[in-house]
Amino acid sequence: MQKGSINVQAENIFPIIKKFLYSEQEIFLRELISNAIDATQKLKVLASAGEFKGELGHLKVEVLLDEKKKTITIRDRGIGMTAEEVDKYINQIAFSGAEEFVKKFKNIEDASQIIGHFGLGFYSSFMVADKVEIETRSFKESDEKKAVKWSCDGSPNYTLKEKKKKDRGTDVILHISKDAEEYLNEHKILELLKKYCKFLPVEIEFGTEKISEKVEGKKDKDGKDVYENIEKPRIINNTNPAWKQKPSELKDEDYQNFYRELYPYTFEEPLFQIHLNVDYPFNLTGILYFPKLKNNVEVQKNKIQLYCNQVFVTDSVEGIVPEFLTLLHGVIDSPDIPLNVSRSFLQNDSNVKKISGHITKKVSDKLEEIFKTNREDFETKWNDIRVFIQYGMMTDEKFYEKAEKYCLFKNTDNKFFTIEEYKTHVKESQTDKEKKLVLLYATNPTEQHTYIKGAKERGYDVLVFDGVIDPHFINLLESKLKDTSFVRVDADIIDKLIRKDEAMPSKLNDAQKDKIKPLIEKFAEKEKYQVVFESMSEKDLPMTITQPEFMRRMRDMSAIGGGGMGFMGNMPETFNIVVNTNHPLVVEVAETTDEKKNEKVVEQMIDLALLSQNLLKGEKLSGFINRSIDFIGK
Ligand code: ADP
Repeated sequence: MQKGSINVQAENIFPIIKKFLYSEQEIFLRELISNAIDATQKLKVLASAGEFKGELGHLKVEVLLDEKKKTITIRDRGIGMTAEEVDKYINQIAFSGAEEFVKKFKNIEDASQIIGHFGLGFYSSFMVADKVEIETRSFKESDEKKAVKWSCDGSPNYTLKEKKKKDRGTDVILHISKDAEEYLNEHKILELLKKYCKFLPVEIEFGTEKISEKVEGKKDKDGKDVYENIEKPRIINNTNPAWKQKPSELKDEDYQNFYRELYPYTFEEPLFQIHLNVDYPFNLTGILYFPKLKNNVEVQKNKIQLYCNQVFVTDSVEGIVPEFLTLLHGVIDSPDIPLNVSRSFLQNDSNVKKISGHITKKVSDKLEEIFKTNREDFETKWNDIRVFIQYGMMTDEKFYEKAEKYCLFKNTDNKFFTIEEYKTHVKESQTDKEKKLVLLYATNPTEQHTYIKGAKERGYDVLVFDGVIDPHFINLLESKLKDTSFVRVDADIIDKLIRKDEAMPSKLNDAQKDKIKPLIEKFAEKEKYQVVFESMSEKDLPMTITQPEFMRRMRDMSAIGGGGMGFMGNMPETFNIVVNTNHPLVVEVAETTDEKKNEKVVEQMIDLALLSQNLLKGEKLSGFINRSIDFIGK
């Protein structure tokens, strides 16, 4: 028997490992299973290279829980280790890995900043065990008596001796410590296995489960199939997840089934998916799904799972993919993402930047492809993907350049246009005197119906921008598109928004205007409503409520946050009451001296205008209804 001391400086390494990784203690299982998988995969490689000529047999990794003995065993049938190899890989190399790890992260206060702790490997078992044993027999060893047993109780001292072992491969036996007894529970282990091992490439077996199975050739008295409950080994993982398969071999249905495998509790089907498959200049596979985006974007965010060679690492990919891509769902698998570093480091890592750039490009290419090959399909999906695309355009310059080609505008007739198409569509009718293109939009086509109608009657087109982030998006478009401005249909009277001709002559003189203004102010508070006179057609409404674009948009933007305009949220809303100086009713008020009658007419005109902007509420609305009923009677 060999006795030894791992390293003189090692005395305090285990307490440090325990302390630093306390919050992520559970990763010991992932680490040990990863090692078992590696050992198994190595054997497969040796076999296919002809260096291992024996029987591979059923290659699987078993997790065994013994609640009485208080042990967890991870068993593989991989390459195993000789005594020399245990000495080299466990006593020396694995240990130096652990030591390096501790050095590196000694100064990090918050261990949760570190995602994944690859490289710590085998020694993470001491987070939960006060004694660890390895029983291993190398594939090179034909004598079953020549297997080895390594044992270490958490002090730097270990023992290494010969032991009989029937099977090739390695057992790692953890004697679980008192303060980690929660792991001596079947449900706990099952939960961890489902979290970290769901898609590992070698079968992971843990306990048994009862499965109802059809008994072949047996029928009951009614001629129906007979089923019986059979106890079978419980297999945790799908060893060949969709993202590892060739895209050409997968159907839409396969992708949808895999989506359900990833998110068993999500009932919504994804819209479409992107299969990532890169091997140069970095390694990346995965499938990203476009979900139907709901209004509450937050709950759908951060669902992408990050894997490293099929081992689950984290489901928080911030810093690895651009913010807007965190709206997607799915899996990213890459051995090239450094996993044992802090997030701030991650964001500056050149590999991560390349990967993130690549994913952005792939996503954009896919969108462009659907747009080009099946525009109809793209249009039907637009409502569900537009938030994503707009958000991307707002936050990622490169994405903007690409998405500009397929970003769609929808008008009030439910017709879709690309930005370029739309500019051409309205070029004739909506270029103003300054040669600026004026694009009209509505944020609520039902509420703004009167204004939309007015615009359409003049041959103008109105877009629908009713999304949550649209105020910000419009701002972005204005800064990007040259000589183009966006105005909501009710920002001013329509003839002024896109004015081509001089204003028509007014039938009211200044004295008459001065007479009408205080009359209006009697009914509409001065602080909220400003009276403006405009000479319009006598066919237009006598009074219209408008809300200037700039102030309104700033308010809308601050309401949804961002843009550093929080203060705007506190500003009171202000409107214009635009008086049509050519409308017969207005002219009549100007020319009549009957104060009482004038007041009645003005009040009714104001209320009608407010009504069309959905601003007539409460007592005023009741008053208006009662007066209207009186009018009918007269
Ligand atoms: P890493 O896995 O990052 O190399 P570990 O500390 O987990 O670091 O393991 C150190 C080495 O010990 C491995 O590289 C491998 O050579 C050997 N080893 C660990 N577990 C096994 C196992 N189950 N079978 C065979 N070799 C193993």
